[in-house]
Parts: sequence; structure tokens; C-alpha cells
Amino acid sequence: MAEPRKCPKCSTEIGRDDDICYACGEHVPINHPWYTLPLGGVIVIGLFWFLTDVDALIAYFNSLLQQ
Ligand SMILES: [Zn+2]
Repeated sequence: MAEPRKCPKCSTEIGRDDDICYACGEHVPINHPWYTLPLGGVIVIGLFWFLTDVDALIAYFNSLLQQ
């Protein structure tokens, strides 16, 4: 699953959760897969959807518009 990562500067092996090379101090950003961001967005929207009473929200906005 996890491939060993190597520092681009000194080629020392880095732990896959480390974003700094301990040998030379080079900052090595963790490469998240491209789907991490949209997946996170979907999860946030899904949580919002489940935790929010959407019908009540729509009724509330409708009542605001009809004043
Ligand atoms: Zn390094």
C-alpha cells in the first residue's frame, strides 16, 4: 500500500507521514491523492445534510421571502 518515500534532496528514506526530512531538514510535502479534496468536500456536505434539518431550513427561507 504505502511506498517508501525518499527525500528529493538527499535520498534518505522518509516515513510516509513525515513532511520533513530528518537527515537534511528538507520540507517534503505529503502528496495526497487528487481525490482527497473532493472526497473531503463530499463528506462535509454529507455531514451537513444529515445534521441539518433541510426541510425546516427551506421553510425558514421561504417564510423570510414571503414577508
Ligand atoms: Zn533529506
